Amino acid sequence: MKREQVLVVEDEADLREMITYNLSREGFKVVGAESGQEALRKAREMSPSLLLLDLMLPDVDGLEVCRRLRRDPLTHTLPIIIVSAKGEESDVVLGLGIGADAYVTKPFSPSELVARVKAVLRRGPTRLEEGPPERVVRDGLSIDVTRHEVLLDGRAVKFTATEMRLLHFLASHPGRVFTREQLLRRVMGEQVALVDRNVDVHVRAIRSKLGRRRDDLETVRGVGYRFRSPGG
Ligand code: CA
Repeated sequence: MKREQVLVVEDEADLREMITYNLSREGFKVVGAESGQEALRKAREMSPSLLLLDLMLPDVDGLEVCRRLRRDPLTHTLPIIIVSAKGEESDVVLGLGIGADAYVTKPFSPSELVARVKAVLRRGPTRLEEGPPERVVRDGLSIDVTRHEVLLDGRAVKFTATEMRLLHFLASHPGRVFTREQLLRRVMGEQVALVDRNVDVHVRAIRSKLGRRRDDLETVRGVGYRFRSPGG
């Protein structure tokens, strides 16, 4: 079996060692980078399966690393998990906005980190601009945008057009967190005059119609929303 390679970008040696130790124990091949420049170089040279990216780095900071990797055809689908400190929530939101897949907040437990790495790897390469399929089916829930039809356990449930687009978008990207701003931009088109909280209103309405599946639409505190990944 091929060992997945993880590039760990972290300038604190102790933390880098801790992460390396725990991922190696799980069978991953781990390579470290101490700075943003080193991260960018190694990401291109090694084509790792995943990048763990600290935000505060001595030269090029994590957000800029993320931005450059997403622009580079060689690395633009590389899965990226941001490792942030407490108090960096706004940077996490920015990071997700420029294409990071997930984040963990320091301090984290080894098992939390390993679980997050495995979950992101299961999703495969990051697909940023590919449109979702028109019909999404998840465990008894079927959302068909062309027929404007949502079936829950075979029963039709009425949704407004916006609610359906929002639910369809989130359910097509299970496990991925989206900020309210991203949801406004990508789901509700250019009606950006709407304030953030309008997303919350739609989410509440969707949940009230989802019955036993209401908890699938999760609130990620301080960041936004995500549709629960299968088995997650
Ligand atoms: Ca750091």
